[in-house]
Amino acid sequence: MAERAVVIKSQQEIESMRLAGKVNAKALEVVRELIRPGVTTAELDKAAEELIRSNGGTPAFKNYPGAYPYPATLTISINEELVHGIPGQRKLQSGDVVSIDCGTVLDGFVADSAFSAGVGKISAEAEKLLRVTEEALFVGISKMYKENRIGDVSAAIQEHVESHGYHVPREYTGHGVGRQMHEGPLVPNFGVKNRGLQLRPGITIALEPMVLVGTHRTRVLSDQWTVVSADGSLTAHFEHTVAVTESDPIILTACE
Ligand code: MG
Ligand code: MG
Repeated sequence: MAERAVVIKSQQEIESMRLAGKVNAKALEVVRELIRPGVTTAELDKAAEELIRSNGGTPAFKNYPGAYPYPATLTISINEELVHGIPGQRKLQSGDVVSIDCGTVLDGFVADSAFSAGVGKISAEAEKLLRVTEEALFVGISKMYKENRIGDVSAAIQEHVESHGYHVPREYTGHGVGRQMHEGPLVPNFGVKNRGLQLRPGITIALEPMVLVGTHRTRVLSDQWTVVSADGSLTAHFEHTVAVTESDPIILTACE
């Protein structure tokens, strides 16, 4: 796929994205509180959609073009499912690792964020995977300073993940976000320091480490959306929409 254009945002546009991000964060919080054994993924999806719409937003993922238009508000990916799992009648079970990804459009701007969490009691390996993946997100954000390059962000994420013996996928990446859910630049979870686009104030990125326990390889299920680890090993995913500024990066998909 050709790289999409990088769109520099004004401070006012970043503020609009922050408002979209707050609604998106609230939707994810509502879902987080519903996570327990026995809840269906469709129930989680419905709660997120209601929260977004009652705050004047629209779900960014619904009808997103693919093999067929994406049918839901959330992507919900369980265990070996890495990203893009479709909500339905499946019930969460104790021991599952569930990844919830949500996008909100508010006043023309998109916010995109994800988290993973354990359901009930989870294994020590699952706990470690969740910790390492969330840490990788914040390690990446800590490199999002002007004059650093995309490769600095990507390499930091890859180094953190691989230092724990885990893997990052090659086919799915972070991305610029703004009026469109997918803008330039692509921000892989692997890379080489000092390479790639130089960051500058006004660049807004959905940074999203995806981590697999056993392999970097993935495949897509017959529903043509759900991406799973090729070896069936456990996976996790954390994401924030972040703005590069003159000083510290700003997380636009935080609750506060
Ligand atoms: Mg996302
Ligand atoms: Mg994203």
